[in-house]
Amino acid sequence: MYVLALYNQWMIHLLISIIVIVTVGLLLILINLSMKRKGYNIPGICVVRCSKEHVFKTRWIEGVSLKAVRLGPYTRYQYCPVGKHLAIVHPVKRQQLTAKERRYLARETER
Ligand SMILES: [Zn+2]
Repeated sequence: MYVLALYNQWMIHLLISIIVIVTVGLLLILINLSMKRKGYNIPGICVVRCSKEHVFKTRWIEGVSLKAVRLGPYTRYQYCPVGKHLAIVHPVKRQQLTAKERRYLARETER
């Protein structure tokens, strides 16, 4: 009986763990789809503007960040390769870019 009770307890923990992992995964997918729907190229290579107004491309996937500290859905703290400094960056929609910034970004690759 003790072994059966232990097995049941283990199964309940396993089930709760699976539910939590699936829920977090679904939330991340929904957040990323929401960002895409709002006009940002997220998930993917996104145009961002740093706190000193530099514009560059970076990979942005909500819920996942290897090169940045996430501060919220629209805010990260990361290295700005244009100004060569650490800065707060925000994603930028294509419509928010000037013609000069679009020409500059067309020549740039992801950094
Ligand atoms: Zn910068």
